[in-house]
Amino acid sequence: MRGKCYLIRYGELGTKGDNRKVFINKLSKNIRSSLKGFPGLEIISDRDHTYIYLNDEDPEAVLAILQDVSGIQRISLVLPSDKDVESLQKLCLQELSKSEGKTFKVNVKRHDKRYHLSSYELCVAIADYILDNSSFEVDVHNPDAKLNIELREDGAYLSLHEYPGAGGYPLGMNGKVLLLLSGGIDSPVAAYSLLRRGIKVECLHFAAPPYTSNAVIDKLEDLAGVLNRYQDKIMVSVVPFTKLQEDIYKHVAEPYCITIMRRMMLRIATIVAKNNHCLAIATGESIGQVASQTLDSMQTINEVTNFPIIRPLACSDKLDIIHTSQKIGTYEISIRPYEDCCTIFKPKKPKTKPSIKDCLYYEKQWDWQSQVEQCANSLSYFLMEQGKRKDPEEEK
Ligand code: ATP
Ligand code: MG
Repeated sequence: MRGKCYLIRYGELGTKGDNRKVFINKLSKNIRSSLKGFPGLEIISDRDHTYIYLNDEDPEAVLAILQDVSGIQRISLVLPSDKDVESLQKLCLQELSKSEGKTFKVNVKRHDKRYHLSSYELCVAIADYILDNSSFEVDVHNPDAKLNIELREDGAYLSLHEYPGAGGYPLGMNGKVLLLLSGGIDSPVAAYSLLRRGIKVECLHFAAPPYTSNAVIDKLEDLAGVLNRYQDKIMVSVVPFTKLQEDIYKHVAEPYCITIMRRMMLRIATIVAKNNHCLAIATGESIGQVASQTLDSMQTINEVTNFPIIRPLACSDKLDIIHTSQKIGTYEISIRPYEDCCTIFKPKKPKTKPSIKDCLYYEKQWDWQSQVEQCANSLSYFLMEQGKRKDPEEEK
């Protein structure tokens, strides 16, 4: 008989009708790819579940990886058993004895309709055996341990321990977005929200050397390296933004500089997103966080593009964002000091309600169109793959 296995239950959403098969195939492919470091695992997917049979692998290590795969709802550690009553009784008692607590409940799901006992009869047979041979007691409302038994055609499966999955959709099901990645706390958390939704990310960063230092590139590498846990290859492109930014400060009144700079960023991002087949642009903006993120500002900034912009953190509190960044491991990287193009050129009194009319006035002062084109067409880029940087030459 086989040993332990993890039973993966898929999410409910998007699994109906014709979508279901595509969804499951994608998830199954993603599970296999994330577990490629464990070649001894046997992975079997069907319509309802994926089974991952363990040999000598460390169950904890396998579980940690599975919990980061989007599209998985729940993960149960399952012990296969013969279907005869005696085998099930013995296995249930043996496993229950390993668990802490005093009370238990037995649940039986009888997919195998030809089984000689009803679900209820099997429940009673197992519960009676445990009551007769141990000091455990039954509690059907709030048990310390739930013995879930599934009777299937190919055998019985007992699960005691269940773990939450990441939820959402399998990565790649929902296309790819261009994420504006700064070195701060918010944008990596925005990336995480997208990845859990099954959306692939590609990153774009605006750098203004020598005002911004090279240390920010190290940060981008480290941040994307952490995000590799959820997407094993992440492209990071860097926009040479210095000249355009200097010109903004030459031609635009100080309170409008950030607004115009963000409008330029969006124009450039729109070209890059289209060139790179991204379906939307995403940012780590959160409503009201700073002057450029009031709804008035966002509207004025957004006016330059009709490309969809996703702001996963729009309504999140900073403390929740920080909490998530600590959980996913980007926080310590994000708080390393660095100069961002937004902070270096920060006006003393940025406009919180900038008007489109004023923006259009300032944007008549110089020929920024060619600079925007040039920025979008002279990106440098690198690929982060499983935590390691690969430059374009190495990829070939
Ligand atoms: P934090 O707010 O934690 O300092 P942040 O990344 O959110 O970091 P903001 O100034 O709030 O920084 O910028 C809002 C959003 O604009 C960012 O989440 C990011 O998506 C985008 N952004 C800002 N600066 C850059 C940059 N230099 N390159 C790419 N995107 C940027
Ligand atoms: Mg922010």
